[in-house]
Amino acid sequence: MDCLRKMQEAAEHNMKMHPMWQGPLAVPGGDRQSPIDIVVRKSVFDSQLKPLVTDYDPQTCQQIWNNGYSFLVEYDDTSDKSTLKGGPLQDKFRLCQFHFHWGESNAWGSEHTLDRRLFPAELHLVHWNSDKYSLFEEAVMEDNGLAVIGVFLKVGKRHEGLQKLVDALPAIRHKDSVVEFTRFDPACLLPSNTDDYWTYHGSLTTPPLTESVTWIVMKQHIEVSHDQLAVFRSLLFTSAEEEVQKSMVNNFRVQQPLCGRTVRSSFTPFLQEAPPSADNKH
Ligand SMILES: [Zn+2]
Repeated sequence: MDCLRKMQEAAEHNMKMHPMWQGPLAVPGGDRQSPIDIVVRKSVFDSQLKPLVTDYDPQTCQQIWNNGYSFLVEYDDTSDKSTLKGGPLQDKFRLCQFHFHWGESNAWGSEHTLDRRLFPAELHLVHWNSDKYSLFEEAVMEDNGLAVIGVFLKVGKRHEGLQKLVDALPAIRHKDSVVEFTRFDPACLLPSNTDDYWTYHGSLTTPPLTESVTWIVMKQHIEVSHDQLAVFRSLLFTSAEEEVQKSMVNNFRVQQPLCGRTVRSSFTPFLQEAPPSADNKH
């Protein structure tokens, strides 16, 4: 698929050029790296997978930060006020931030793909295990330390919930800019159905790339408008002082091999979508 190849080239180019990927990279070289292509027919239905339980307090939303690779909406994670439980998780996880990955055009931009299908962007809600660890910095290094919800974005109608965020972006155009951003409920960015998802063990997709992540990738995407994504693309990788300004686009990692891992699903697509001929028994 031509688009997939172009996307991988864009990601590889980005990893060569972007400062975040330069210098001594502590790539663990493990066999549980992310992102991956989710092959829908190879995912295994697991009836033990429960619905997700998100309990987010918009009051914990604090600020929005251009970190030079994406923009992070950061939450107060000093107490269990915004949490994720259920799904594949045994423990309680605290929300610390969410961010997106996106492409230079609508043809690519997501980190995960579905049967090699690309989406223009992907949302990541990052949580850490507050039952087992006391800080994000501790959890990020440990097995079962993080839980990240991934949501694909498709271009369609304007997303009303996202607009408050889009309106704040011009204030953090340059790298290292931070502005106060409060009372944002991240639940408004979840699809209406959060019961159906894929889950697998993987890694962070940015350095330190530690293999501490339980990934929960939503089956249902959300829709945002082309204009909203255009504002994402108006952000810059570069700080105000730099001579050559670079647009913040293609901020995703190249896909990683599955290495024998199983992707489990909370739903049974084949039972629900049996072909019409399945009933013809003659
Ligand atoms: Zn991410």
